Amino acid sequence: MVRLPADLPLRLGLWIDTVVDRDDTLRTLARERAFDRLRRDDIVSQRTLERWRTEAAAALRDPHPITAPYGETLLARDGSVDTAPHVFSLTLAAERVLRIATTADDGARGGLLVDVFEGGNVEGPRRIGAYGPAPFDERLSFEQASVDRKLTLRVQALPGSTGRFAWRTEVRAVLDFPVEIDTTNPVQSFFGMPRDGGRREHHGIDIFAPRGTPVLAAADGLVIRTGESPRGGLHVWQRAVDTDGVPLGALYYAHMDSVTAEAGTHVRRGEPLGTVGNTGNAQTTPPHLHFGLYRRFVGPVDPLPLTGERRVPTVTVSPTNVLPNWLAVSSTRANLRGAPSTDAPVIASLDGGSLLRVEASVDDGRWARVTVGDGARGFIARSLLAPAREHEVQAAINTDAMLRSAPSADAPSLGRFDADLRDGAVSLGRFGEAERVRTTNGLTGWLIGPAVVPALE
Ligand SMILES: [Zn+2]
Repeated sequence: MVRLPADLPLRLGLWIDTVVDRDDTLRTLARERAFDRLRRDDIVSQRTLERWRTEAAAALRDPHPITAPYGETLLARDGSVDTAPHVFSLTLAAERVLRIATTADDGARGGLLVDVFEGGNVEGPRRIGAYGPAPFDERLSFEQASVDRKLTLRVQALPGSTGRFAWRTEVRAVLDFPVEIDTTNPVQSFFGMPRDGGRREHHGIDIFAPRGTPVLAAADGLVIRTGESPRGGLHVWQRAVDTDGVPLGALYYAHMDSVTAEAGTHVRRGEPLGTVGNTGNAQTTPPHLHFGLYRRFVGPVDPLPLTGERRVPTVTVSPTNVLPNWLAVSSTRANLRGAPSTDAPVIASLDGGSLLRVEASVDDGRWARVTVGDGARGFIARSLLAPAREHEVQAAINTDAMLRSAPSADAPSLGRFDADLRDGAVSLGRFGEAERVRTTNGLTGWLIGPAVVPALE
C-alpha cells in the first residue's frame, strides 16, 4: 500500500513532491525522479551521475552513529555543494516521531535528498521514506509504534547543486503540546492523582494557562464530538491519528472557555480547537485544560509521556556555518570524538597540524564532523581547527607525478606536477597517502604516494 502525504496537493507546485513508499511499488521516488530529470536534461555528465548513484549505495554499508537532535550545514566545494553521501544510523524509541527538515539559502540551486531506511537483510536495508530536493519539514512515524526502530538516514546533495544547504533531524513526541503557552511547569496536576476523596483517579493532566489561551489539536484527526457536561464543562473529543493515519486513541480536551472546533470535521495538529477556561467542575480552580487520552481496549492512559514539549521547537537550520573542506588541528593535540559533545568518547588523539577532511559543520557550528587521514571518522570542536599551515613540499615527486583533485590515486588529474607547477609550490599537509599542495598559480590538489624529499634539479 502506498500512502501519500495528506497535503500532497499543496506540494504539486514544487519541482518534485515528497512521496513515502512503504513497499517499493511506487517507483517515482524523489531520488529516482531527480536522477531521471538530471539525465534527461543533460545537466551533469553521465559519468558524474553514475558515480553519484554508486557512492550513495555504497555509503549505506558504513553509517555514522548519531543521536537526535542532530543537524548539519553542508560544505561548498569550488562553489558547488559536495555531493558525497552522508549516512547516519540512529534509534527511534517507541512512540516517538522522527522529524527531518532541510533548508537552503536564497539563490541555492539543486537541493538535498534524504532517504530513510530501516533494518537490513541480504538485499540491504529497506527504504521507507524519500524526501527532497525542495526544502521540506517532514514527520515520520510508524505503525508499530511500540517498538524501537533502527533507522539509517542518507543525506546527499543533487549533482550540480550550488549554494548553502543544511538539514536537521529531531525525535519528537507523538502528540503535540495542546496549549499555546510558554511558561515553566504549566502541568500542575498529573495522571492517576486521587479525585473525589480517592473514589476515582485523575484520568488526564491539567495544563494551567490564562483564560482565553488557545487550545491546539495535539494530533491530526476527526473531531468526534463537542459539548458541555457537568464534570468536563465545554469539551472536545478528537479521534487522533499519527502522520501515517494510524490511530493513537481518543483525545479529550475539557474545562474550555470556548469551543470553535466543529464535530464531524478533520483538524490538523496545531489547529485551534477553542480556548482554556474553567467550565464544568473546575469552576473553583484557576483556568486550565484537562487533557486526556483514551486508548481502545486499554482505557485512559497518561498522555504526558506522549506529549511534546510545551514550546514546539521550530526546526531551524542555519546555512551560515559553512566551513572549508580542509582544516588542520591548531592545538598541540585534539580529541576526535564519537559525538559532538565533550562528554562523548574519544576515538583518537590527533597531533597538532593533522590535516582533516571536514564533512560538515554540526548544529550551531561549534563542532565539525571530520574524516582523519587514516580513515577514522568523528567530531572535533571547531575551536581546535584552523586553516593548514604551509610547508615546503615533501611529497614524492618524479616527472610522472600527477596533481589530483582528491586524495586518491583514481581522482581526476589536474595536470602533471612538472617543473612549472613545482616551482614555489607549498604543502598544506598530509592526509593518508596523499599530500595537499598549492601551486604558485593558486591551483590546489593532491600528490599521491609516500612522502620523500624531492630531488629538485
Ligand atoms: Zn483534570
